[in-house]
Amino acid sequence: MAVQQKQRLGIMGGTFDPIHYGHLVTAEAARHRFNLDKVIFVPSGHPPHKQERKLTLPDERLMMTLLATVANENFVVSDWEVRRPQISYTFDTMQAFHQQYGDEAELFFITGADAVLEIMQWRKIEELVDFCSFIAATRPGYRLDNFSLPPKLAAKLYFMEVPALAISSSDIRRRVQSGEPVKYLLPETVEMYIAKHGLYRDGE
Ligand code: NAP
Repeated sequence: MAVQQKQRLGIMGGTFDPIHYGHLVTAEAARHRFNLDKVIFVPSGHPPHKQERKLTLPDERLMMTLLATVANENFVVSDWEVRRPQISYTFDTMQAFHQQYGDEAELFFITGADAVLEIMQWRKIEELVDFCSFIAATRPGYRLDNFSLPPKLAAKLYFMEVPALAISSSDIRRRVQSGEPVKYLLPETVEMYIAKHGLYRDGE
């Protein structure tokens, strides 16, 4: 009888305000390099570390994520964090996926390296590392000086340079506000959604 292989799932966490080609290239590169069966995009509902800036509404960030990923059969979107009123801790999200897919799946949390630099402060990180690995995407020229982790966590953290991450959400927001073009930085459908709903015009 054939031995069934474990499913390998990427969980792509981010605020996605807005989602852009840097995120999509990251997800596709991670899928290829880590041999993932699919990548599930999980827009943050209420990120724990983002109290200072007013975020675009969760439903609008979810809609832009759906529009951006629709053409890739290996990408799916989860509204799990967006639907919950609570603060979006990665531990809670990954525990929910772990419970849904069970030990039959190997989970990889994919996100930006800047977010991962604070990982030791994340909620229940010692427990989270027991059932998940981490893929941290870095921008070109990114330096990791004086970054050290406990061996158990270091063994499950992979860095991946993604040149397309020269694109950033904050730069896109700034460009929209100042009337500069954003074409070719993000999918056209997302660009149209931003224009239609007047997002980022007032700099928030
Ligand atoms: P962030 O601090 O806004 O972003 C840090 C950097 O990473 C930015 O340069 C960002 O670029 C980039 N980035 C974010 N998500 C990315 C992705 N999926 N792929 C590639 N680059 C990405 O990070 P965030 O978006 O708010 O949070 C990232 C994830 O970590 C979220 O799922 C969040 O819930 C989780 N997190 C959890 C905890 C916790 O559980 N305590 C704490 C912090 C973060 P852009 O601005 O261009 O996206």
